[in-house]
Parts: sequence; C-alpha cells; structure tokens
Amino acid sequence: MTDRTLGPGSTLGIVGGGQLGRMIALAAANYGLKVHVYAPDRDSPAFDVAARTTCAAYDDPQALAEFARSVDVITYEFENIPHATADILAAHAPLHPNARALSTTQDRLSEKEFINGLGIPTAPFQAVDTPDDLDRAIAAIGLPAVLKTRRFGYDGKGQRILRERSEGDRNALFAEFGGAPLILEGFVSFEREVSVVGARARDGSFAAFDLCENEHRDHILALTRVPAPGLAPETGRAALDIAKRIADALDYVGVLAVEMFLVREDGAERLVVNEIAPRVHNSGHWTIEGALTSQFAQHVRAVCGWPLGDAARTGGLPVEMRNLIGAQADDWHALLAEPGAHLHLYGKGEARAGRKMGHVTRLGSEPVG
Ligand code: AMP
Repeated sequence: MTDRTLGPGSTLGIVGGGQLGRMIALAAANYGLKVHVYAPDRDSPAFDVAARTTCAAYDDPQALAEFARSVDVITYEFENIPHATADILAAHAPLHPNARALSTTQDRLSEKEFINGLGIPTAPFQAVDTPDDLDRAIAAIGLPAVLKTRRFGYDGKGQRILRERSEGDRNALFAEFGGAPLILEGFVSFEREVSVVGARARDGSFAAFDLCENEHRDHILALTRVPAPGLAPETGRAALDIAKRIADALDYVGVLAVEMFLVREDGAERLVVNEIAPRVHNSGHWTIEGALTSQFAQHVRAVCGWPLGDAARTGGLPVEMRNLIGAQADDWHALLAEPGAHLHLYGKGEARAGRKMGHVTRLGSEPVG
C-alpha cells in the first residue's frame, strides 16, 4: 500500500475499541481527522467518540476488507491481532505499526530473541513445549523462574512463578496452561519497574518521553511516576536509547512502549527489558497533560506521516498518573473537585473488579529532572 502523507479530513482506522482506541480517536479528532473504529464488542468505549464504527469479529474477512477500504491509514490499540487479520488490513491500506512489529512482539520467545539479537539484555529464557523441556529449562536457568504462555498474556495472566523443583507438579502445570507453548524466564530480582514510551515517525525520527516508574497491584498497573525518581540520569538516557534501537530495528512507525526491570548490582543500575508493547501504553497516559505532546497525538502524527511533536514534560514538572480500577472510579465526583487533578473516565458501563475504568493525572509544582 502506498504510504502518503495524510491531510486533515482523512480517515484513520483504529482496530480495537478499548480505552486506548478511544484516546487515540480523541487525539485524531483534535487534528481534524475522521475516525473509523473496528471492534467486535458493541459496548466498545471507542465507539462513543468515533465518526464511524464497525462491530464485527477480528476474523471476518469481508468486514475487515470493507473497513480497510473505507480508511486512509490503519492502526491498532492491542497487539494480539491475528496474522491473517493484519494481512487483510494491510492489503487495502497502510498498516502502522507494521505486521513485523506485531509478529515479533506477539510471541514472548521471538520477542526476546529479537531483543537479545540487538545486544539488549532480557531475563535468561528457554522455550518450553513439553514437560521434558521444562526440566531442561529449569536445569539451564535455575529457580526461581517464571513460566509464561508465549502468546496472549497480559496483566500477569498466563504466568506462574516456580520456586522449587517438584517432579509431581510437572504434568499438572502443563494442564494448567492448557497445553499452550510456554517460555521459562529467569526470575529478575528487580528494584523497580520502568518503561519508555516513544514514537518513531515515517522519516525515522524518534522522540521519547521521560523514563516512567510503574507500580503494579495485583498485576495491574496502579501508578506511574515521571521522571522515575532517584535514578541516575545515564539510566534514563540508556533506557531511551534501548527504545530507539528497538524501534529502528523494526522500522517502526507509531508509539511503542518498552517495559524494563531496573536491577541494582553493587550500587550500579542495570536495565533488563521485559516486553515491548507495539502501541500506545497505559504508562504513557500521563502525557495528556504532563507532556507538550500526548502519546496519543504523537501516535496519530506518526501514522499519518506527520512530524513528531515535542515530548518534553509540561513546564518540566513531575507527573503522577493513577489508574482508577473497578470501584475506585466511584470517587469521580471528589476527583473533579480536587484542584489540579485531571480526571479521565472511559465510559465503561460496569465497574467490575480489576477493570480499568479511568485514570487521574496530577502535575507537581516544582520542575525536576
Ligand atoms: P508480563 O506479563 O511479562 O508483563 O509480567 C507481568 C509482571 O510479572 C511484571 O510486571 C513483573 O512484575 C512480573 N514479572 C514478569 N516476568 C518476570 C521475571 N522474569 N522476573 C521477575 N518478575 C517478572
């Protein structure tokens, strides 16, 4: 598909209808673009803010082709898009990020091989397809270790920490994962979890936001702080450089996030990459108010072939973003009344436990960094 620079009035297609798609659509509307959202669920939060919607399955070739023909460029808000779906889309309109970014990051094994191939450290890992492989992998990597499904894992789903070797458990473990291909990763004793959210444009230019520190509760992101407090400035620069090398190697267009573990050894800080998200990311939501260009605006600029915006923090201020999970969103009224609290609600109906309902961003009062 020829990739032309789009003008305002063009149509951006977004595959996936969750809050990420919703916030991409809002940013696109700000630039005078029309948005067409494709998602299988009638209650998709992104449908509320789109000019056009298609409610169909991700494996419906006819609906996919019709959608792709109706738009000028296509992006997506989640990485588990089937290969065949990406192929149908890309046959009718430019797809950004490209299918290679999708296939590399969809499988934890190919993802880690790709990252190590760039000379960037990850946890040690071994493919595990049979109970015997598991024995071999444990012998090679040692315990504790983390056993994960290679595909379709998110928010800590599809993984289990193994602490001691226990022969009897082996087959039961396999049954627990439903026979899916697995990966065993060495357990990283990290001090904290950090992420880089950055964008690469079609001309190869790259702009990253400052390094974020992320706190999870029950495997779900609870809090992001930027800049990650108390880290050596070189660590921040090294993290941004890792994200750029990954984006360059994938010939990537759009926003990506690279999640990393910060390990402290003899006082020195070391970064170990955990995973790549080929999309806008929850740890980048703070950029809506906290940076001169939001991750969503940056993503729209990149996929449309436009210049990237300035990724500096607003006024150099520190920023904190808290997710509103489940019933936490019931505090919306108090948050609206709080001076300086920027409230975002995703328009989801039912506040089920563990469901991301919205987020709130607060900017500090003194510049740091
Ligand atoms: P993931 O699904 O790979 O993002 O993992 C979810 C969470 O599990 C991470 O945010 C970490 O807190 C933890 N985790 C994953 N892999 C490892 C590892 N190899 N070592 C230690 N903790 C891990």
